[in-house]
Formats: sequence, structure tokens, C-alpha cells
Amino acid sequence: KELLRIENLSAGVEGKEILKNINLKVNYGEVHVIMGPNGSGKSTLANVIMNNPEYTVTNGEIYFDGEDISELSTDKRARKGLFMTFQTPIEVSGISVENFIRTAKSSVEDKNIPILSFKKDLEKEMDKLYMDHSYASRYLNEGFSGGEMKKNEILQMLMLNPKLAILDETDSGLDVDATKIVATGIERFLNKDNAVIIITHHKELIKEVSPDYVHVILNGNIVKEGDYTLIDKIEEEGFNWIREEVK
Ligand code: ADP
Ligand code: MG
Ligand code: MG
Repeated sequence: KELLRIENLSAGVEGKEILKNINLKVNYGEVHVIMGPNGSGKSTLANVIMNNPEYTVTNGEIYFDGEDISELSTDKRARKGLFMTFQTPIEVSGISVENFIRTAKSSVEDKNIPILSFKKDLEKEMDKLYMDHSYASRYLNEGFSGGEMKKNEILQMLMLNPKLAILDETDSGLDVDATKIVATGIERFLNKDNAVIIITHHKELIKEVSPDYVHVILNGNIVKEGDYTLIDKIEEEGFNWIREEVK
């Protein structure tokens, strides 16, 4: 069953077209990987799916769970079950991890989330991510290492339980242990009622999660699609052979 369908999507910033006629379909239960060189438009695509107001859609539609969401605000999209992590996580001074996630959860679920039961659930999930409970009271992302930020994003995803999670990977390396923990968290999240799009350069991470489809973006276009074997080929040979094919 279809969860996300993007049709003929073009978007950019003022005076600059970044995405050119993107088509993408994600079904429930699937893991999709988006790869592409720096500056090819991967983060822009994620941002446009969430309707980040920095970007303007010039053409196309986005359907989510059977509904045209093209005109919906970021808030409303989040309430429908869309979730995205940021490539550069924002530091939010004065808001603890616990409060941030609880506030986000009560916003997307449109109900009050009791503090005590939330804390219990949060700590249970933190244990599985090998996060010390003290992180719950730290200010969001302030002084977090790369690995801690990533785990924190996975924690948010698991607590918010969206239908579609878009994970925009930081390029900074995760160590082997953190990669394993993050991959396990994604696997724990995945079920037949949701889906994940992973934007990444980390072969190690996607290896653990075993994607169903791989899409390659070059210059704002999805120019190649395939299965897991594409990742190995790109790892070995880079993107030039795809550029040649496109020509
Ligand atoms: P990727 O995530 O694949 O590295 P991005 O989507 O971040 O690529 O960027 C694609 C292109 O669009 C780049 O040339 C980038 O400089 C440009 N771009 C992205 N966001 C903005 C913005 N807010 N203002 C101006 N240019 C932008
Ligand atoms: Mg699957
Ligand atoms: Mg990016």
C-alpha cells in the first residue's frame, strides 16, 4: 500500500531551481535510500517533503497516505505522520531533550502527554539506545557529539512513531558502535505500518538496515534507481559512471 507519492516535483529557492521533476513512490513497510554527490539536492528534497518555507515548490504534487498534502503546512504534515531529522541538528537552548520530545509528541498527537508515563517510556527507549538517562535533561543538541545527536534523533523518531521518517544523515562519521545502535533503532522502528527514507553516505548504516530501493540524485534529478547492489557500486566507483549514463 502506497504511503508517499511525489509527482513531477520541482522546487528551489528564489531565483534558483534545485529539484527538477522528481518522482518518487514509497510504500508502507519499505526502506528507501537516497544517495547523491554533495549539493545534488538530497536535503532540499527532504525539506520540501516537510514543507520547509525556505523552499518554493514550482511544480508537482505530494501525496501522503492517499491525500494530496501539497498545500499543508509543516505542522499539519507532522500531524499526518511525517517526520524528518536535520542534517545539521539545531541547538535549542533552554529546552531539554525530554521536554522537546514530549512537546513535539503532544503536538503531533494533539493530546496532552502525561509527564511521568512519558518519562518512563523515554527512559525505556534510551536504555535500548544505550543513552544515559541524564541526556533527558540536557539541552537539545547543546554540546552533543555526532553520535549523541544521531541517537537523539533516533530517540525522537521512536518516541514520535511517525508513518514516514526521513533521516538526513550527517556526513561526520559515526563510530562502529553508534552505527550499530542507530541501525538497530531504525530496525526496531520499522514495521508494516510505516516506512523510512534514509539519505546517507554511510554504507555501514544502510547495510544493517537493508534497503528495498536506492535512488540516486544528480543535479536535482533522480537519475537512477535500483536495489542494494547500487550502494556497493557507488561505494567502489563513485557517481561518474551514472553521470556518463545520463548524458
Ligand atoms: P545535498 O543535500 O544533496 O548536499 P542540498 O539539497 O543541500 O544538497 O543543496 C542542493 C543545492 O541547492 C546546492 O547547490 C545548495 O547550495 C543549494 N541550496 C540548498 N538550500 C539552499 C538555500 N536555502 N538557499 C540557496 N541555495 C540553497
Ligand atoms: Mg521491508
Ligand atoms: Mg544534504
